[in-house]
Amino acid sequence: MKRFLLASLTFLLLAAGLQAAPSIPLQSGTPVSFNLAANSLTTSYFINAASSDRFLRINLDSSTAGVNIGMYLRHGTPFPDSLSGGRPISLSYIEELSHYRSIGPDNAEWLQIGRTGAEPLRAGPWYLLIVNLNLAQGTSIPASIALTATLSQSEPAAASFAVNFNAVGNAQQPCSTSEWFDNTPATPSAGNTGTTLGAQRRNAMLRAAELLAQELQSPVPINIDACWDNLGTGNSVTLAQAGPRTLVTDLPSMPRKYTWYADGPTARLSGTAFCKALDDDCSRAQIRATFNNQVDTASALGAVGFHYGFQASTTSSPDFITVALHEITHGLGFISLVEIDPDSGSDAGTKFLGTDDIFSAQLSWLQAGQLRPFNQLSDAERMQAAAAGSGLKWIDASATNSISNPRRALPAPDNYVQLYAPNPISAGSSVSHIDQDGFSGELMRPFIVGAPRTLSLARPMLDAVGWSNAETSAGIDPVPFGGFFYDPRHSGHGIEFSPVTAGGDVYVLIFYTYDAAGNPEWFLTSGRFLDGRFLPEPDVNGNSLQRFTYDPTRPSGQRQQVDASVRGRLRLDFVQAANAPTCVAAAAFSGYLAVMTFTIGDDSEQTWCMQELIPAGLRPSVDMTGTWYAGPQDSGWGLSLGSLPNAGSGGLFSILYYYDGQGKPRWALATVDALSAGSTVDLLSRNGYCRTCALPAGFPAGRDSDVGSISFSLQPAGSAGSQVSYSASWPGIEAGTFARTASPLTILSIPAADQQPQ
Ligand SMILES: [Zn+2]
Repeated sequence: MKRFLLASLTFLLLAAGLQAAPSIPLQSGTPVSFNLAANSLTTSYFINAASSDRFLRINLDSSTAGVNIGMYLRHGTPFPDSLSGGRPISLSYIEELSHYRSIGPDNAEWLQIGRTGAEPLRAGPWYLLIVNLNLAQGTSIPASIALTATLSQSEPAAASFAVNFNAVGNAQQPCSTSEWFDNTPATPSAGNTGTTLGAQRRNAMLRAAELLAQELQSPVPINIDACWDNLGTGNSVTLAQAGPRTLVTDLPSMPRKYTWYADGPTARLSGTAFCKALDDDCSRAQIRATFNNQVDTASALGAVGFHYGFQASTTSSPDFITVALHEITHGLGFISLVEIDPDSGSDAGTKFLGTDDIFSAQLSWLQAGQLRPFNQLSDAERMQAAAAGSGLKWIDASATNSISNPRRALPAPDNYVQLYAPNPISAGSSVSHIDQDGFSGELMRPFIVGAPRTLSLARPMLDAVGWSNAETSAGIDPVPFGGFFYDPRHSGHGIEFSPVTAGGDVYVLIFYTYDAAGNPEWFLTSGRFLDGRFLPEPDVNGNSLQRFTYDPTRPSGQRQQVDASVRGRLRLDFVQAANAPTCVAAAAFSGYLAVMTFTIGDDSEQTWCMQELIPAGLRPSVDMTGTWYAGPQDSGWGLSLGSLPNAGSGGLFSILYYYDGQGKPRWALATVDALSAGSTVDLLSRNGYCRTCALPAGFPAGRDSDVGSISFSLQPAGSAGSQVSYSASWPGIEAGTFARTASPLTILSIPAADQQPQ
């Protein structure tokens, strides 16, 4: 067991996480049985994968009534089994750390991990965390559990697309199913052996599902609710409609973060059934396909009904299997979620809930010879792109280079697959189809012509929205260079975020900000940096970001105490931050970018896009950037230092963390233009603005007041002998002076020269 004893290292109280010590290696294919107490977890089990392994299948079963078991899986490093001080770990924290999970409502959990997606099967240990949650309050039933993990070098058989002919509708989504059981006699023809209309319909639907399964080879089953409804009559009618049932973002196995995926590819990427990955109702289908029950009646299409033959229609009858393939393909994620209905007012051109979708993420608008990503356009530009005629392009390479693309030999951008973008916009068809012109024979054109029975170009296009079976390698998670970060929309507030263990994964974060009245205040946290994310664990009060108070009359080492009255939460995520809605305006920033989500008091779940204040490439060769403190004998106050880019002059930016006369945390800033021994400069306190307020015009002009002075005598970071003297006087009713003379100063964080950012 390894323990991080941070409290002795830092100028503040830091949480210390326990790391689990899994002790039971699972042998591939050999079941183990054990009992797990009620409302408890185990991190004891892991399995080592070899580089030759292609699939990992894990089954976790319990027949004990009254319990709900679940499992979480992560590669590389184990789950902690408790928080610091042995406190129980929370499920939400476990979920943050897991790469896969099977937490369905029943007790037959399974995971199947292949070499695809953002967390592909790869060599090394895969750690399990297994929970037993009691369903009944007040009981404590141990679960009898059977666990088997099986590694294999061969691919499992593709799972099926299961069709439900008895789905139940509701007022918003009517679902008539009697059409599937229509007893009107029918003559077997074109390969369909059904002897009633209903049987022929069911046979044709099942045939469509079978054809799809042959092409997609999903390792997890996909459920389709098959319905009928009156979708209108006339010479031009909607034959059918379908779409995903649910949209999901930000499962760790999804290749693109901050992006909507349809529930079909979500299940596929989750390595388990949708309901087990999302703890959803397992009777819910992932796709609902609704066919027009007027087509087979005399009133629609001039009495030309659906062709249900297994061989394609050769008449003017619409080919049911083609229609079913087309609609299910939409349901599998071949659909843009951008609102393109010109009648939708101010919503026109907006993304679904402000977030990218994976289909639209493949699109670019070709305008005046320039290709621009559809998701990075303004709402108004997206409406223009949706009506751009030949200007809406699918730029993902696998479709561009596909043998099915008739334009693949042309030079870019003429080689791209073109999407349907007529002017005026057709709200139900534009963007979400392949262009009618130039792509004859394609299944996913807006109007069915003939009877295509294969996905063709839609196959590589589905790859891009979550259906790829291509092998992937795990992405390299960003490891940032320590230093200052800020969101330009909240300029004046910021963080210093730096590693404190050499080559390790523990970071300290100080948030210097302002309260509702604009007074400077600061918060601090520390924790593990895993998978490109900083996830400080919650303390005994449930806070993962702490405010501190200071009482100089208390004994050394106890002067600083956590203020439990202030709610604080924080996480910082560097992975694909540029895709996050909050980072839209920072898309062009080239340094480290992170999404900071925090809660302080009543400022709940704020989301800021943090960028480096002084990117690594601009730092001078002698870089003092980092967290500094006096040592454990005088803990509680400290400094964030940042070397300024004007190389050679030794310029320094500093923030002093101190306390007012009532022990409240305050900060003051100082800038040294040219650092020399004994450099003395003014300490400035800034009258800022609240965290949820807009950046005031002209900020920070006229906002600084002199609260004292500070004098540095610094040796390079990591060398001994640095000193600081200062005196800071907070004004007003909380007046007090916080001062030190010739205090030793030591860098707490890893010096910049010793960091290895990625
Ligand atoms: Zn369509």
